[in-house]
Amino acid sequence: MSTVDSRRKLVAANWKMNGSRAVNSRWLEGFNASRAPLACDVVVCPPFAYLEQVGQGMQDRPAALGAQDLAEQPPGAWTGAVAGEMLIDLGCRWVIVGHSERRQFFAEDDAVVARKTRRALECGLLPMVCVGESLAEREAGQTFAVVRRQLEAVLSEVSCADLACGAVAYEPVWAIGTGKTATPEQAQEVHAALRALLQERDAAAAARTRILYGGSVKPGNAKALFAQADIDGGLIGGASLNAADFLAICAAAQ
Ligand code: PEP
Repeated sequence: MSTVDSRRKLVAANWKMNGSRAVNSRWLEGFNASRAPLACDVVVCPPFAYLEQVGQGMQDRPAALGAQDLAEQPPGAWTGAVAGEMLIDLGCRWVIVGHSERRQFFAEDDAVVARKTRRALECGLLPMVCVGESLAEREAGQTFAVVRRQLEAVLSEVSCADLACGAVAYEPVWAIGTGKTATPEQAQEVHAALRALLQERDAAAAARTRILYGGSVKPGNAKALFAQADIDGGLIGGASLNAADFLAICAAAQ
């Protein structure tokens, strides 16, 4: 099997804090209505409150359920938090870790993200670890230093081989929810740098690690992004709220 074959494309929906039982039912109707086989691995990450509804509603589609975050602690006296064990209990296979909104608005630093990644793996969840620079950092020429620092923090807690079971998502903060997408070349440059960093530690694991791009991916730009050598799929925010758009993005990941 070539290294590229071993990296089947992966497209994940991050609904963020959106949805209601009624809205989710309509999304599931749209998602389940398409009988076309999914061209890639698909993960849907609704808010915690709707994991069970969405997990049950997707049962006739080969898509996996994911959460958007997990606690770094095991179950216990942590009011308001959700443990990895609970996500497994609800049928989750994946969990997003270190999304920039968690870093920015919930004060999650590199060390917290690294510990959450380790916790996810300990619980049997596949972590989708987000890294990415802000606009100020890009303009200051710090993109590579920032993503290197973020990924190295994670690799101080988990091995490359363990991380390769999950995925890394490069999400430039300036492209998230802004309608500004990184060009395929800009994204590829960072993806290649992330893979090179993994390669320094474990070449075999680096070759099989899926590195997703996230940041205003839409049906119209997905194909060009996914055609890049080191872009192995996408983490989709806004466009994943529309089932037809999300399916079109999945179809672009052949
Ligand atoms: C995200 O939140 O992970 C994301 C990529 O959002 P959007 O697609 O809306 O930019």
